Amino acid sequence: MAKKLPKQLALLDEDLCTGCEACVSVCPVDCIATLNGPLYQEVMQSCSIDMIRCIGCTLCSQVCPWNVITMVPTNQMLREKRFADELIPV
Ligand code: SF4
Ligand code: SF4
Repeated sequence: MAKKLPKQLALLDEDLCTGCEACVSVCPVDCIATLNGPLYQEVMQSCSIDMIRCIGCTLCSQVCPWNVITMVPTNQMLREKRFADELIPV
């Protein structure tokens, strides 16, 4: 059975994230990962949220010192194809 989606989901702006990892340590379901790779090692690292595992608890958005995580209503996310493809398995 498909997972019931929470009412809201965390949206992280990877372009503005500094990679400080404050959000990573508070996420109760461990769905925020640090992105590694040549690009991120040369500049600042960044983080990414696995939205299919996010439970919408808001903790990450509360602790982000740069306010780059926004809580967005799930219904609004689903209107965008790139998020709908990620959230609704075929
Ligand atoms: S809203 Fe909660 S579950 Fe979702 S990414 Fe942030 S800390 Fe994790
Ligand atoms: S707390 Fe904010 S700036 Fe720090 S890693 Fe998370 S999203 Fe990026």
